Amino acid sequence: MTAPHSSPRPPSALTIAGSDSGGGAGIQADLKTFAAHRVHGLSAIAALTAQHTRGVSAVHVPDTGFLRAQIDAGFDDFDVRAVKLGMLATAEVIVAVADALEHYRPQYTVLDPVMVATSGARLLEPSALHALRTRLLPLASVITPNLPEAELLLGASIADRDAMHRAIDGLFALGAHAVLLKGGHLPGDGDVVDLFAQPGSVREIAHPRLQVDAHGTGCTLASAVAANLCLGRSLQEASVAAADYVHDALRLGYRPGRSEVLVLDHF
Ligand code: PLP
Repeated sequence: MTAPHSSPRPPSALTIAGSDSGGGAGIQADLKTFAAHRVHGLSAIAALTAQHTRGVSAVHVPDTGFLRAQIDAGFDDFDVRAVKLGMLATAEVIVAVADALEHYRPQYTVLDPVMVATSGARLLEPSALHALRTRLLPLASVITPNLPEAELLLGASIADRDAMHRAIDGLFALGAHAVLLKGGHLPGDGDVVDLFAQPGSVREIAHPRLQVDAHGTGCTLASAVAANLCLGRSLQEASVAAADYVHDALRLGYRPGRSEVLVLDHF
């Protein structure tokens, strides 16, 4: 791998997330995304899922001591520039991850507040929402909720673009530092518009809507933000580049399973 910059130790990205045995989302999508950006990827597996393109059949959550050992091993040897957080499954896991982040204070943390899979499977215990909101959200450099996740975080419905702007204010009030709010769940045939916001500024990121049923887009977006941060881009540049990357990966997506569900091409 060519060093992406002049540092003697190129920065690494660490994903703390769930494994998707079907290879479309989670840790597997994150590591493919890091590799596509030529960023060295580390992983700490917070949960294991048995799943394919039609759904999740089992979840196993390893003990938090083992999770912490994986995180410690990453920080002990690598220049971890950006951490990406995905499926964390339980409040106990969230607390362990928050404790580790408070200890190591990485330069960037990208929080994808994974709660429910597109297939409908729950990936976060309902009782863990409080810990996510109070412990992790304030530690994140940027959060990347989709609309159903933002609705659960805020306890309010988001039905149109104006409501998305109000939701951003609400997420800042909860302690978010920057927000990449994904607009793909709004109905309509027009462009998909995501909003990237930092206090005092909001930028719209628009792409033509692709009428496909896809798996792993959220994981890929958040890990592409983390990879771009490792490459030295700003939060806004990283968010725009990541949204472009997901759009292209979706356009080139393919169907490896028996269902119509598309998996992204992590070129
Ligand atoms: N499985 C795991 C392990 C994940 O981390 C995610 C991420 O959100 C999903 C499944 C859900 O992926 P999607 O909602 O894109 O199907």
